[in-house]
Amino acid sequence: MFDLGIKHGRIVGENRVDYANLYVKNGKFAGISSEDLAAKETVEADGRFVFPGGVDPHVHFNDPGLTDGEDFQTGSMAAVAGGITTVFEMPLTNPLTADKRSFVLKKNEADKKCVADFGLYLALTPDNWSRIDELMELQPIGFKAFMSYSPDIPMVKDGDLLSGMRAIRAANSRIAVHCENNDVITFLTDQIKQAGRNDPRAYIESRPDYSEWEAIQRAVNLAVVSGVQLHVVHSSTPEGARIVAEARSAGHPISVETAPHFLFLDSSDFERIGPFAQCNPPLRAPGNADKLWEAIRSGQIDCVGTDHAPYTLEEKLRGNGSVWETPAGMNNIQSAIPLLIGEGIKRKISVTRLADLYATAPARLFNIYPKKGAITIGGDADMFLFDAEEEWTVDKKQTFYKQKWTPFDGMKVTGRIKRTWVRGTLVYEDASPLGRIVVDPGFGQFIPGALRSS
Ligand SMILES: [Zn+2]
Repeated sequence: MFDLGIKHGRIVGENRVDYANLYVKNGKFAGISSEDLAAKETVEADGRFVFPGGVDPHVHFNDPGLTDGEDFQTGSMAAVAGGITTVFEMPLTNPLTADKRSFVLKKNEADKKCVADFGLYLALTPDNWSRIDELMELQPIGFKAFMSYSPDIPMVKDGDLLSGMRAIRAANSRIAVHCENNDVITFLTDQIKQAGRNDPRAYIESRPDYSEWEAIQRAVNLAVVSGVQLHVVHSSTPEGARIVAEARSAGHPISVETAPHFLFLDSSDFERIGPFAQCNPPLRAPGNADKLWEAIRSGQIDCVGTDHAPYTLEEKLRGNGSVWETPAGMNNIQSAIPLLIGEGIKRKISVTRLADLYATAPARLFNIYPKKGAITIGGDADMFLFDAEEEWTVDKKQTFYKQKWTPFDGMKVTGRIKRTWVRGTLVYEDASPLGRIVVDPGFGQFIPGALRSS
């Protein structure tokens, strides 16, 4: 007898969609069948899609230390309501997650609060690259480094980055890098500030697309010479995707994600919405998103990470007077997958490619596939039921975000998540106007970082 049967769903597998019944036992996918088999509980899918739960390689839940903006509970509630069942959390918290004490502190908070399964990054800093080996006992999902200035993490110069990459290669882990050219940005920012400019366009001009793809090229070069597995985060440009795709086709273990805001918003939205649409790298010119969608279609872009990066309303509103006064980052995790699937279908991208984009590819890159990332027999039963017809509008007030703002507020979406399961347990169900989380805080489990596969 199965624990759960989802009847008459369109089951989104890795290479095919089956109109069938999906069965779960002991938290794992246990069968796909056209036959009616016995299960303790059944759910009628009525022809709606059953997609694999999302694996988000890039979230900021601000916990510990910055929890006015978000914490593991609110952030993960928004994640599962948005179909994301596994998150990899970034180290830009307080204290910085860069050593054993801070990692254990964070893991304890996540153990108590998180309702999604979670992996945790460690920061790579100029001070800790010589201790990578001992940090590996913590089983981080990977290391994160910044090539440009951030208020929350020390940036690494090229020498530190190369040394860190060599140590991480020796430890068989992986590195995710924020690629922007710090010198170019500092130079342009000074010039633009001196001209007295403080509007969204000034911010975009201070971080031009070449300041990003130049750094991506440099990170790729250093990854090639060190042999490390490199994941380039949030590429906003097709050039960045092309650079990574070239290295990948030459056989190097290098991957790239883009973020939903680059696929749905552009510089005109930044000018319209203001600080709530400010992020690093910044939103690009109208038309850029079409090029990123093409890079998704062609496979140049491996996956999507939300880069959900919350701040308080007060912090963001400081940017209304001047873009130089607000932190960069945005709330987006709850609407990301419905937007992606809805738009992807409109653009005639197959649902299997869309599932690959937000679930299977990141799971493979971080080597937690097939436990995570796909509807495959024996894998964790992480999934959501999706009504591809239902139309709704993103409402910032109807979110689980601790701070009720998002630049996606008011955006029309085709397709809605009806229920989400993690390891076969229902964690979220849709209701009007805001759905319900039906597990206790702490339901989520730690995912030990796996060593790289090759
Ligand atoms: Zn980020």
